[in-house]
Amino acid sequence: MAARVPRLVVVPCLRDNYAYLTGRGDAREVAIVDPSEPDPVVRALDEHGLRPVAILCTHHHYDHVGGVEPLVERYGPLPVYGHRSDAGRVPRLDHPLDHGDELEAAGLRWRALHVPGHTLGALAYVGEGLVFTGDTLFGAGCGRLFEGTAELLYASLAERLGRLPGATLVYPGHEYTESNLRFASAVEADNAALAARTRAVAALRSAGAPSVPSTIADELATNPFLRVTEPAVRAFVEPRLGATRGPAAVFAALRAAKDEYRG
Ligand code: ZN
Ligand code: FE
Repeated sequence: MAARVPRLVVVPCLRDNYAYLTGRGDAREVAIVDPSEPDPVVRALDEHGLRPVAILCTHHHYDHVGGVEPLVERYGPLPVYGHRSDAGRVPRLDHPLDHGDELEAAGLRWRALHVPGHTLGALAYVGEGLVFTGDTLFGAGCGRLFEGTAELLYASLAERLGRLPGATLVYPGHEYTESNLRFASAVEADNAALAARTRAVAALRSAGAPSVPSTIADELATNPFLRVTEPAVRAFVEPRLGATRGPAAVFAALRAAKDEYRG
């Protein structure tokens, strides 16, 4: 079967959010992923001559769903997808998903991965060689713990997102890569892949381009939150480790260190 390249339009929203439009490359229909606000999404649809047929939400935070109501009003009815537990928190959610559920939107097939930690109902959408990770996995970083525990977020990253094929393209919910790379470099000063990525991202950002997508392989090589079994990462948080010393404990200490980091 010939590889189909999906259409992927990055839509900058708010201050540093990304919404995405995705559908078959040979069609005008798209799904909207995480519409933070309506206006930039409407402009991108118009500019590319695209028609929305579904909305995929990674989690209930306003900077990911603020555009759902107005976009459904304008283009609807549109099916709105999100995790079952976010019914009542994701506006207009009428297609509740559980871990492993599959859906088709704009001619592309997606599988929902439940990735709790940032929020309890966090989902990633994987398919077509790419993954939308919301606020769970960022370029060189991960989301804060708002509702879940460090153990939950660690499992979501290590056992679900981190095990996707290395070539999978990663599209996160925010442009946080540069600041995440500063923290990552403080953690692992001697990581050559991290130094190379820092240079590449600086070049993209200074040209006004998004740093996304990365790949799962890039993240495994440079994202400290996916590298908690590395001696250098463990050493960085050693002073914070108590009696519990497994990978999840290293992850918890690393997340706490990032929360306090001012780099
Ligand atoms: Zn969020
Ligand atoms: Fe967010």
